[in-house]
Amino acid sequence: RPVIAIVGRPNVGKSTIFNRIIGDRLAIVEDKPGITRDRIYGTGEWNGRSFSVIDTGGIEIDGEDGLLRSVRMQAELAIEEADVIIFMVDAKAGVTNADEEVAQMLFRSQKPIVLGVNKVDNLGRMDDIYEFYSLGFGDPVPMSGAHGQGVGDLLDAAVNKLPVKEEQEYNDDIIKVALIGRPNVGKSSLVNAILGEERVIVSNIAGTTRDAIDTPFEKDGQKYVLIDTAGMRKRGKVYETTEKYSVMRAMQAIERADVVLVVINGEEGIIEQDKHIAGYAHENGKAAIFVVNKWDVVEKHDKTMQHFTNTIRDHFLFMTYAPVVFLSALTKHRLTKLFPVIDRVAEQHALRVPTNVLNDIISDAVAINPPPTDKGRRLRINYVTQVAVKPPTLLIFVNDPELMHFSYERYLENKIRAAFEFEGTPLRLFTRKKS
Ligand code: GDP
Repeated sequence: RPVIAIVGRPNVGKSTIFNRIIGDRLAIVEDKPGITRDRIYGTGEWNGRSFSVIDTGGIEIDGEDGLLRSVRMQAELAIEEADVIIFMVDAKAGVTNADEEVAQMLFRSQKPIVLGVNKVDNLGRMDDIYEFYSLGFGDPVPMSGAHGQGVGDLLDAAVNKLPVKEEQEYNDDIIKVALIGRPNVGKSSLVNAILGEERVIVSNIAGTTRDAIDTPFEKDGQKYVLIDTAGMRKRGKVYETTEKYSVMRAMQAIERADVVLVVINGEEGIIEQDKHIAGYAHENGKAAIFVVNKWDVVEKHDKTMQHFTNTIRDHFLFMTYAPVVFLSALTKHRLTKLFPVIDRVAEQHALRVPTNVLNDIISDAVAINPPPTDKGRRLRINYVTQVAVKPPTLLIFVNDPELMHFSYERYLENKIRAAFEFEGTPLRLFTRKKS
């Protein structure tokens, strides 16, 4: 997916554009607790093109020269990551030194740039925007975020400059596996261990996207593609200083995957960043497996695995469906445990259950534990049907969706899982009105 980045000084209106692009989408995402959401990165669609968008406004450095350093890093990040850059300036402030500095960096990069001038009160008058021609990016696009005017024109201009490039597409029967995790958890080592296995036949590397290296391979008759972000990520110097953005490539890999291997360093345990990345896999409806690596150096007794699993469950409350595999990429100990689990969760991720069985289970669940009443009214479930796979998505038709409470939905999900398991995959339940 192509990437649009938005750069500019604080308060010029970057988040206005950003929210305009991703706004609707955030509303569609499941509303469940325990999910972190990254508001600096999102996906959007405009004029029929879909793309990712980065608001570089998350980079802010305090201190005397903070502003200049911040915008420099924003520009650097945008140049490294984006196909098109939206450069925002402020009509009220005019051209500032920081603007000029960013303009020079962007100019040298030769990336397609769209210059947006925000806070223009009268879009028909050219007076306010003349001076911005001096930045050298051609016609500035005037806008007024406050009045919601001109934003569409700006997005038109940006989307027009997106490259016409085909995403690497794979057949549906190929299992796409992304390896994600913090630096040094052993992702590269695991990739090498997997691809170095005797029964693995690696075909020619199909393509290298900007975000990841794809390696197609075959093992015991099943085709896979490994989407590896590790090697690429190590190049970017911006990432070392801004941890928030270091997850961006991981996110892009997740979006293209079926099964996400969340690699955790068994020696160190779980930290916040692990949760963040895993949460993104969950939100995007991907199957997930926790891979606890470096198991060779962990001191073990008979309950160590159970304890570690409990810790993972405590930290990832919303992902209790994801199995845990312990291994060592270095010694290859227990490596053979991994692929059967990948195959299993991939299958469950694409599982379609029969409507009649599904409805029998829901009827039983309702009989055992009827929905609670709300202001004297009771939720009535008419029927349930599966409308999609990857992830399995169920529509629950009810008398009034407002009466469906989170705890009851959770109860139904547990009953469904008790019957079909759906190991390793999130489930999406949507409630619709139908009396
Ligand atoms: P990445 O940044 O996630 O790709 O991590 P690397 O694969 O580069 O590994 C980081 C370090 O951990 C290297 O020094 C590896 O040799 C080491 N390492 C990786 N896997 C294991 C393992 O299973 N056991 C041990 N003891 N060390 C490992």
